[in-house]
Amino acid sequence: MKCRCGRKAVFHSRVYRITLCDECFPKFYVNLVKRSIKRYGILKSSEKILVCVSGGKDSTAMAYALNELDYNIELFHIDLGIGNYSKESLKAVEELAQTLNLNLNVVKLEDYGFTIDDVESKKVCSACGIVKRYIMNRFARERGFDVIATAHTCEDIILFFIKNVLSGNVEYISKLSPRIDGFDKLVAKAKPLFERTEKENATLVLTLNLPFTPMECPHAPNDIWKEIIYEIEAKRRGFKQNFVRGIVKLAKSVKAEEWEVKHCKICGEVSNFEICSFCKIVERYSRKNR
Ligand SMILES: [Zn+2]
Ligand SMILES: [Zn+2]
Repeated sequence: MKCRCGRKAVFHSRVYRITLCDECFPKFYVNLVKRSIKRYGILKSSEKILVCVSGGKDSTAMAYALNELDYNIELFHIDLGIGNYSKESLKAVEELAQTLNLNLNVVKLEDYGFTIDDVESKKVCSACGIVKRYIMNRFARERGFDVIATAHTCEDIILFFIKNVLSGNVEYISKLSPRIDGFDKLVAKAKPLFERTEKENATLVLTLNLPFTPMECPHAPNDIWKEIIYEIEAKRRGFKQNFVRGIVKLAKSVKAEEWEVKHCKICGEVSNFEICSFCKIVERYSRKNR
């Protein structure tokens, strides 16, 4: 198969009805990201953006696209201390920062006296989510960033949607907007890749030979729902991207859970309780407290 320019194709999509080469695909990809950002008001050109990178293909693709679009960005990585996976991830983001000539900020969870490997296996994923959200918000605010960008793909958003609908947490759907403005001590959050698929992100990083790690977190569960989403897509081309646009529309009309803003007695950050979830985790797992 050949690209419209005549060169050998690396990407073919029945959804976009397009076949592209290694030179035309990155431009096409960046333009798709640009269109999402504009259409959904995800980022403003005046903003200072903290781009969260894990070392995986999705956040690597996001960093490349936002850099190409000339946004004011710095990279941010949290070293979770998950054995070899974290070592490989850190190596990948350091190489990425060099390749794109961007400033990289790294926070080591170990500096708080524990790592994700210290958390009991049943609670690892929820603890990891709490830790990441807390550290990136606090870092962004203290360093004067206007918005935090994360590389959630359309598959991630569909999975979150299905799981929360099934467990009855429908108010959480409001969190799926591609742009959530900040309030109180919470910094604004952006998901500029919410319409992008994992396949598009993988094609971009492989085509451009950008540094990333193919390693998956050893704690990540095998997700049956992800397989189901891929099966539907195989039978109904374009399902994922159409579905995610529907979810985002719905997210706007869902009223977020009403809650009174409180501040953690220990750290002063926004919390639902007297002591925030992050401080509870630190209290429980920090070596200083053992
Ligand atoms: Zn071409
Ligand atoms: Zn706290």
